Amino acid sequence: MQNRKTPDAQILKALETAPNMYLVLLPDLYIITASDAYLQATGTTREAIAGKHIFEAFPDNPELPEADGVQNINASLQTVLRTKKPDYMRIQRYDVPDRQHPGEFITRYWDPSHTPVPDENGEIAYIIQLATNVTDKILAERALLKSQQEQGETLAELLHSNTELRETQHHLSLLNAQLEERVARRTRELEESEKRYIEKFNAEQALNEELAASNEEYAAINEELATTNEELIATQQQLQTVYDELAASAERLQLAIESTQLGTWDYNPVSGELYWSHECRDMYGLPAREKVSLGLFSALIHPEDSDWVQRKIAESIDPEQRKRYDLSYRIIRFDNRETRWIKVKGTVYFTGDQATRFIGTVLDISDIKQAEINNARLGAIITSSDDAIVSKTLDSVITSWNAAAERMFGWTADEMIGQTIYKIIPDDRREEEPQIIARLRAGERVEHFETKRLTKDGRLLDVSVTISPIKDSEGHIIGASKIARDITERKQDETRKSDFIGMVSHELKTPLTSLSAILQVAGTKLAQSNDSFLSGAMKKANLQVKRMTNMINGFLNLSRLESAKIVIDAQYFRLDELISEVIDESKLTINSHHIKFDHCPAVEISGDRDKISSVLSNLLGNAVKYSPNGSEIIIRCMVENEQVVVSVSDQGMGIGPEDVKKVFDRYYRVPSNQSKNISGFGIGLYISAEIVRRHGGDIWLESTPGQSSTFYFSLPLQQPLGDK
Ligand code: ADP
Repeated sequence: MQNRKTPDAQILKALETAPNMYLVLLPDLYIITASDAYLQATGTTREAIAGKHIFEAFPDNPELPEADGVQNINASLQTVLRTKKPDYMRIQRYDVPDRQHPGEFITRYWDPSHTPVPDENGEIAYIIQLATNVTDKILAERALLKSQQEQGETLAELLHSNTELRETQHHLSLLNAQLEERVARRTRELEESEKRYIEKFNAEQALNEELAASNEEYAAINEELATTNEELIATQQQLQTVYDELAASAERLQLAIESTQLGTWDYNPVSGELYWSHECRDMYGLPAREKVSLGLFSALIHPEDSDWVQRKIAESIDPEQRKRYDLSYRIIRFDNRETRWIKVKGTVYFTGDQATRFIGTVLDISDIKQAEINNARLGAIITSSDDAIVSKTLDSVITSWNAAAERMFGWTADEMIGQTIYKIIPDDRREEEPQIIARLRAGERVEHFETKRLTKDGRLLDVSVTISPIKDSEGHIIGASKIARDITERKQDETRKSDFIGMVSHELKTPLTSLSAILQVAGTKLAQSNDSFLSGAMKKANLQVKRMTNMINGFLNLSRLESAKIVIDAQYFRLDELISEVIDESKLTINSHHIKFDHCPAVEISGDRDKISSVLSNLLGNAVKYSPNGSEIIIRCMVENEQVVVSVSDQGMGIGPEDVKKVFDRYYRVPSNQSKNISGFGIGLYISAEIVRRHGGDIWLESTPGQSSTFYFSLPLQQPLGDK
């Protein structure tokens, strides 16, 4: 009994006090309780029956002649236990013990039903017996039937025993027959009425059964409903999840739209209604209150694009064509009449053959268009350029190759893009590339770098290249652009020119040397003469010859430099002494300026004395040329860091920062009004720089434009001799 479920105390109480007859049984048919009505109808008490087996509490009447009540009730209970379904019985006689007279029974008619109550596992927890006591009705019918039968029997007896009435026997027997017939008829009627009652009762019972069955169906339906409800709740939860996801993705979409400034629109071709998002309005420069109609929309399309755009719209909403709507065109902004480029995409929804909805997006692509236009322009320039324009990555892989590059190097773009630039670098110049890349990585530009490059057919070209870093929008260097100019021709011209200068200078030198010798002799002879004009003229002639010799020496040096024939004829000499000599010599010819030799320690160096002397003369000559008469020129000399530094300072026009480096270039002269009338070829500093560099030294200048210039050159020191 441990695992058995007993009905809830409250239910028991309710059952016990219900006006109907209930008996509550355990599955082993032991009684739990009975309702008050049940106890009353069976004439017993709760204490007397509780805990007893049903058939012990209600034993069978052994004298009952009819079908055994216990058997019927037991059969019904067994059916319930087996099928776990309610069972309804037909009207039964089941006598109850007479409590006043033990051993005797009181006749009872019942119509019991048994209903199982399942536990959570679906097993029967207990059985409820519901019964109606129909004894009174049945007995009343029986009594009536019996009294009518008895009346008939008494009359027949009387008729038989009374001989006096024999005469009338026949008459009476007829009467009797009639009576019998009447009684029989009445009996039949009674029987029929009983039958009808039972039928009626059983019909009601059947109806009840049906009701119970449909109740069961309802229960089943209820259960289904409950399941459906659960499913509904589950579906609703799923829907909620989907809805949440949708909301999240809508939010993401909104963010995406906001970040791209994407406008959206929605047009109903049937009603003509047009919706525009505020991004659209911003793009078109429309104030918020301005109503957007299709007319206004059309009016804002650029006049040159209006016709074809309208045509495209018509094609998209035409059910026969249903063309994709994806256009880029110009609009004129409403507010400032500015022309902008927009990109419009749309999708048309059809209901049957009717376009009912046309929705899409708009994006302002003016910046992209402008970039496209700029790119196209640049592209055209690059394509039509006579200079080879090539771009490459920092790994030296070629990424573009223009038409001029094709012409210059003989390789086509297809052959070169994806290859490395080493394909056109001669073997003996391969180390140039890593150096160039290193400078690019540092963000530097490499300008007018003269080198040699190889063509497809193996020719060597003289090229001047300018290489600039290519930066991305963040400023990171991602590659390089390279512009190469073929200077082979120019190089050849220059060689021819310098060859010619060299030849002419050489030819001029011989007559000039004899002229100088003649002037020297004439000078000595005239020394005794008193002709002051002649001696003066002789001095001037000597001076001019000296200037001419310097000039021609300069040209010779240049041409030797160009043809790499310049030779440094090194010897040890005292630099301080050389400086004094050059100054003394210059003082013979220069009296327009105050030349001061500030200071110089005794210092011996190893070098080409003549060439260092020409460097000094050149710096001194320039200081005179480019500073006003009467101003001071100071020459200094100092020893530091194992080198000697010589400087020549003037108080002249100076040199602007943009020219500070360029003045050492060949043929370069500062383009200014002041220096226009000063003669020169722009080769003096170029040669000086070459000479200094070949000595392992350096040359540079400092200048305040309009005030002063100081040229410096340094030479490696051998051994200082100590101050004089
Ligand atoms: P040249 O003097 O023959 O033109 P250089 O090579 O000696 O050639 O000098 C190059 C240019 O440098 C000069 O044309 C001049 O413009 C500038 N320059 C040289 N020295 C000075 C200086 N001391 N002051 C100002 N400008 C100078």
